[in-house]
Amino acid sequence: MKTKILIGVIVLAITLVTIDIYFTNHIFSSKDKAKNIEYTLAIVKPDAVQSKKTGKIIDRIENENFEIIKIKKLRLTPKQAESFYSVHKNKPFFKNLVNYMTSGSIVVMVLQKENAIEEWRKLMGSTNPEEAEENSLRNLFGTDIEKNAVHGSDSPQTSKKEIYFFFPSFIK
Ligand code: ADP
Ligand code: MG
Repeated sequence: MKTKILIGVIVLAITLVTIDIYFTNHIFSSKDKAKNIEYTLAIVKPDAVQSKKTGKIIDRIENENFEIIKIKKLRLTPKQAESFYSVHKNKPFFKNLVNYMTSGSIVVMVLQKENAIEEWRKLMGSTNPEEAEENSLRNLFGTDIEKNAVHGSDSPQTSKKEIYFFFPSFIK
């Protein structure tokens, strides 16, 4: 009789532990995967920092439910700007772009959200503020196709590279 009770208790305990492991490992992690939580690199560029738009841009970031995971203010050296924008080194606007990006301080952030990369690009708007969607950050705060207030990574590969550029310890 005692043995039967003992076996019953053991079976119940194993069942409860199995259910717990299933819920913890399977349900929650698959939910997170389904959500596609991403990180992206965002920059408030020198024109927007200089015209004191940083606060308004951060306010918008938080209202749109991005999580600011990392943030810092710095000024790029010409070498750093050339390296960060090296994909554009053969473009006619490269030299001006480097001059512009080193003309003052920038505020750099790692943002987290479901589909953060695409969502941040959407919130920024098109490269040219004149073509940027109404109420997008570039539409509101950009001056021209060069001085367009904000930067955002354009793919998961780029975001990893760009986050590593400014926050190397964040990328394992
Ligand atoms: P985005 O920033 O939208 O990803 P790009 O990667 O094409 O755009 O360009 C990088 C940056 O170079 C732009 O944000 C802008 O500051 C500058 N830029 C892009 N195209 C031009 C252009 N035709 N003339 C001057 N500057 C440009
Ligand atoms: Mg780009």
